Amino acid sequence: MGRLFGTSGVRGLVGKQITPEIVIGLGQSLASLLGNSGTVVVGKDPRTSSDMLEGCLISGLLSGGCDVKRLGVVPTPAVSFAVKSLRAKAGAMITASHNPPEYNGVKFFDSSGMAYTPGLESKVERIYFGKKWRQASWKEIGEVEDLDILEDYIEALVGTVQLSRDYKVVVDCGNGAASLVTPRMLREAGCKVISLNSQPDGLFPGRPLEPSSENLVELCRVVRSTESDLGIAHDGDADRVVIVSENGSVASGDEVLAIVASSQLTKKGDVIVTTVDASKVVDEVVVNGGGKVVRTKVGDVSVAAEINRRGAVFGGEPCGAWIFPRFSMAPEGLLGALKVLELLDVSEKKISELLEPLPQYYMLREKLACPEEKKAKVMSAVSKKLVKEFSETIGVLKVDGVRVELLDGWVLVRASGTEPYIRLTAEARTPGRAEEILKKAAKVLKRMR
Ligand code: MG
Repeated sequence: MGRLFGTSGVRGLVGKQITPEIVIGLGQSLASLLGNSGTVVVGKDPRTSSDMLEGCLISGLLSGGCDVKRLGVVPTPAVSFAVKSLRAKAGAMITASHNPPEYNGVKFFDSSGMAYTPGLESKVERIYFGKKWRQASWKEIGEVEDLDILEDYIEALVGTVQLSRDYKVVVDCGNGAASLVTPRMLREAGCKVISLNSQPDGLFPGRPLEPSSENLVELCRVVRSTESDLGIAHDGDADRVVIVSENGSVASGDEVLAIVASSQLTKKGDVIVTTVDASKVVDEVVVNGGGKVVRTKVGDVSVAAEINRRGAVFGGEPCGAWIFPRFSMAPEGLLGALKVLELLDVSEKKISELLEPLPQYYMLREKLACPEEKKAKVMSAVSKKLVKEFSETIGVLKVDGVRVELLDGWVLVRASGTEPYIRLTAEARTPGRAEEILKKAAKVLKRMR
């Protein structure tokens, strides 16, 4: 059987991996899985192909007997919110997140607002590849209703925080799905808002959609020149948020994750979920606050599933995908922005002052070429070899690749899912020690290839 779903829904180049035929089939398959009845909420980002694919997905759903609530251009987390608040059976978002404009994709959500797990995705795939969907009869075909969810969504978001000051915030939406939503939300929360790249445009002329330091130079400059309290940036569909401090520098995703995670602890023993590639700074800050850190596979779907399993109070990745289960089970870039403002408010500190006292860690990465056919063999033996090489090992975690915990740092070895590489990440308290760990691990791997 072929595969449609990758690490975050179905995604690819429009006209190649993502065609109208495939998306109609996806709609029909989802309708079948849902029992050919019930309501599905559909949202989209502003890509040039999104209207076309929305039409296809909706056709498939209607022909399979489902009703559709069409939200129009909304952030991905708004779909999760809408599924829950409308008690729909499922949600679908047409987006390719941070990918360039020529890409698009589809991501599904279950009735709890959580992204489809690999288990549910394979059920959809089985129906799709077996063409086992059911065509509803003429009188069972579903109906479409247009629905503006944004007012309710923004009200719910703003209702989660109470700010005692008027913060000045610069927001860069990258011309993506949150362009008309985050600035409005921040104004309703009482902020003075300066917005950049906040007109939806499917060509994304403002900047590349990945909110990395090199793509946020303008945001940093404007935060500085306007003497703002905070800068925030989203990826294309706003399930992620990246923070720029008042001094105009992009804050470390690991450090912000650590302080946001710790702010969600309410009692001793509360669980925080993060991924195997996150810094040890998260453990230090969370444990200091009385919480416990559980690590899972990279990807927001794994984080959400682990939150469910453990009853965790928060889960997040260093890339800025943060899940606040008290609000919803999807990564929430908009709520993330509000929660950082709340942190400023409660602490009466600036971003840089909140981050400055955190323990310093240094992370280094390297990728080593490794032929596809050798990956599995290398990965199955690498744990033993690393433990032998590092006598200071205190633990080994194998939830996603192999993470070897050392007395004064760690090293993570993961095989790339899409390229002939093995990726290495090492972290320690000094740059020299991080390099030493990385070099030693690379030497072990080079002997094994
Ligand atoms: Mg995204």
